[in-house]
Amino acid sequence: MNDRSAGRKSKIERAESGRQAAARSLRAAEKTQNPPGKRLETAFGYARNFLNNRFVYLVISPRARGLSVGINLIPERRCNFDCVYCEVNWEAPPRAPSFKIETMVAELEATLAMAYQGKLAKLPKYRAVPPELLQPRHVTLSGDGEPTLCHNLPEVVQAVAHLRALGSLPFFKIVLVSNATGLDQPAVQRALNILTAQDELWLKLDAGTPEYFRRVNRPREPLFDKVLENILITGRKRPVVIQSLFCELDGQPPPPEEIEEYVKRLRELKEAGAQIALVQIYSALRPTMHAGCRHLSLRTLSGIAVAVREKTGLRAEVF
Ligand code: SF4
Repeated sequence: MNDRSAGRKSKIERAESGRQAAARSLRAAEKTQNPPGKRLETAFGYARNFLNNRFVYLVISPRARGLSVGINLIPERRCNFDCVYCEVNWEAPPRAPSFKIETMVAELEATLAMAYQGKLAKLPKYRAVPPELLQPRHVTLSGDGEPTLCHNLPEVVQAVAHLRALGSLPFFKIVLVSNATGLDQPAVQRALNILTAQDELWLKLDAGTPEYFRRVNRPREPLFDKVLENILITGRKRPVVIQSLFCELDGQPPPPEEIEEYVKRLRELKEAGAQIALVQIYSALRPTMHAGCRHLSLRTLSGIAVAVREKTGLRAEVF
């Protein structure tokens, strides 16, 4: 490595440390909102706040760069993966027996209005949170499971897009967070066609080989090729964001050969025409819900991000 690239690398690492510092202040703000000893419901590793809603919640996270207004599309809790780091408490009773679009739209409108009018800061939970973190960054289609398994996804996306089109609220971006397994389904395709160029797809890719995929994502059936295929067909049509979570499993970080294979998969996707706007690299919560799965160090995550940047030319950030 020459002096110039060493300088560049340390600048990148400084930027990542900055993002980690921001993440630490978000966690500190979060601690003031949530009493210790209470099991938190989380999304993206950060506490969810449902206010008095059934389907719409708030979460402040670094990957959203502030406040994300989430829609829980799978209140009955369902997924075709069983990720070792998953935050969903599958044993808890369902939040609601089924998803009701009209209720969700009313909750979304009221929650967004409250946030845009600055009323969140008046709630005791948010008094210590800087006001800029309480402005909505986007509306996330996510939930207690895989959102593309929602039986009426096109109608849900249509309803959210319709609320946005009414113009009674400031414009908001829609982000669909998915494990990518259902993107080729006709109903999901119809839902994706409703999204505009400003909206985003955040797709999960946590492994470079089927073996590691089975260890981390623990799918109900072999789905690794399907994930890659669906990222490719979708990424050829519109830019996607890749979300990759790496954790320590049974005391071991991901093996270097696995990271090499993961980087190769990203390069192959790019070379085959997938438009990858960003690779988000992060780790599991501390402590995780599953014994044997632990948070990975910033140094290791930064090393993965550097490998992605250097070997694929893609933008990669550590969160
Ligand atoms: S894909 Fe998401 S919801 Fe499903 S098991 Fe993995 S982390 Fe949990």
